[in-house]
Amino acid sequence: MLKTISVEDVQKYYGEIEGLKKIKEAGFDGVDYSFFYDFKNYLMPENFKEHYVNIKNTLEDLGLTVYQTHAPFDFRYTQTKEEQEKEIEYIKRSIELTKFFDCKYIVIHRINVPENVDGIEYNVNYFSQFIKCAKENNVKIAIENLISGDLITRPNSLFSIIEKLQEKEKDLFYCCLDTGHANLKNEKSSSFFELLKDNIKVLHIDDNLGDIDSHLLPFKGTVDWNDFATAIKKYNYHGTLNLEVTINNPSKEKLAEAFSSACKLESLIKSI
Ligand SMILES: [Zn+2]
Repeated sequence: MLKTISVEDVQKYYGEIEGLKKIKEAGFDGVDYSFFYDFKNYLMPENFKEHYVNIKNTLEDLGLTVYQTHAPFDFRYTQTKEEQEKEIEYIKRSIELTKFFDCKYIVIHRINVPENVDGIEYNVNYFSQFIKCAKENNVKIAIENLISGDLITRPNSLFSIIEKLQEKEKDLFYCCLDTGHANLKNEKSSSFFELLKDNIKVLHIDDNLGDIDSHLLPFKGTVDWNDFATAIKKYNYHGTLNLEVTINNPSKEKLAEAFSSACKLESLIKSI
């Protein structure tokens, strides 16, 4: 399996180009490209393409693939209409750039709503705004299980919104399973796979101690990795093993440790 990693921490620490080199040196095959890092500076200026051409060339030179991207997630229910429209534009630009990176999947977060609002209905409308742009760019949208409240945090509500969106548009909406988020809700990876099966196209692999969303390396917390590995095998998951971990000061050693945790996970999957 390909082993990939979210670029956010190395983007911050080394800058984009140098960060990609460090990821390659550690052994990874590709990246989960984070558009949310400093996106207000990068996504909208007139000359935005220059920035991304440079990154795309570096990725190609290094032989790294972009298997998935992550859209900014600043959209809020409570924002003014103008503010929301701006956030939508950032996400649409991220979809276009996902295509530019020859990448098929973008992860987009759901929107939290007040208690008196039907969250599924609100989010079906929210995600529907991206249908035209995603279709034009041949990019699939992966909705991620999050943590707060009950809205799209557990297998049932994630399944419910995917079903509704797939009725509207076939072959456009899928899922991103975040193993750490599942753990914080006391859910196993297998519970998500049982219901969502091959709708799970991309992963955010991270661990925690069941208390906060600490994005630890796999095997450093309380996530049941045997359960995860068994589900990956049973449901014939075809994507990459993608780490979404927090690595403060991502030194060569720390990135190497992250890569070896992905290798350990791969060995565990193979051993089942
Ligand atoms: Zn995540």
